[in-house]
Amino acid sequence: MIGHQTTLREKLEFSGVGVHSGSPVLMTLIPADANTGILFNVCDPRTGETKDLPANLSTVGATDLCTVLGSPAGAHAATIEHLMAALRALNVDNVIVELDAPEVPVMDGSSAVFVEAIHSVGLKSLSASRCYIRVNKPVRVDMGASWGEFVPYEGTRFEVEIDFDCEAIGRQQFASDINEDVFCKELSRARTFGFMKDVERLWAAGFALGSSLENSVVIGDDNKIINPEGLRYVDEFVRHKTLDAIGDLALAGAPILGCYRSYRGGHKLNSMVLKALLSDASAFDFVQPARSRPKVMHGDLEAVGVPAYAAVFV
Ligand SMILES: [Zn+2]
Repeated sequence: MIGHQTTLREKLEFSGVGVHSGSPVLMTLIPADANTGILFNVCDPRTGETKDLPANLSTVGATDLCTVLGSPAGAHAATIEHLMAALRALNVDNVIVELDAPEVPVMDGSSAVFVEAIHSVGLKSLSASRCYIRVNKPVRVDMGASWGEFVPYEGTRFEVEIDFDCEAIGRQQFASDINEDVFCKELSRARTFGFMKDVERLWAAGFALGSSLENSVVIGDDNKIINPEGLRYVDEFVRHKTLDAIGDLALAGAPILGCYRSYRGGHKLNSMVLKALLSDASAFDFVQPARSRPKVMHGDLEAVGVPAYAAVFV
């Protein structure tokens, strides 16, 4: 039911490598009670103790190249965005994410493996109601040549545009209302991407150590795509950026009813626009569907108080 929170029916395990750390990692998704939200459970390398990191904006410790929860120097969970996108788009509200190393496994560089696994076990409906965040007025952040904004909209919509000075990518736009079906068909298989010319600099900085043609689309110095299999979508790059934005905005802790637009965006911008929205109490409110309908429309919504799990960011 659309108005009820969910969790996974069964535990799921994923083993792979971290795209930045290059280290092997086992990730376990464990069904959780209502109002848990998405809770990462990671080990602090300094003390050996495990720590809980709730997947919300106030826990974000870095947004360079990927979104990191916690302090990169201590207990943290890096590259959470592709998993977060799958959980949000498939309406998984509550789950505990156990990691035995500080980075979510990259799998094939998209959300496809997570989507397939979540579909294989299915969801369990919980008795608690799901809250939504409704955008009430435009909120915009400019960052150099990039900008991002939320505007009020009946439903959930993303309009993402990129403009790379590179023939293989160029200017691409993806604009669509987003639901589980659209996400699975149009976005979930879009892979992360990078440029061969950046690789040595990234490696020297300790990034992209696990990246390979198995988990990234790589653009060579001749401006051509190196992967022998080519692209999964003609405009796979902007689709991946949209997937990233869905994952980054999932750190709101609740689904957002509104339209998110970005131009030349990335994790940092996504995080800044979300922060601008959530730090302006007049820009949004928490709502719940007054009755169960297949699609949540504004007319069906009633305002509610701030849910307990959201207290950290308002
Ligand atoms: Zn990504």
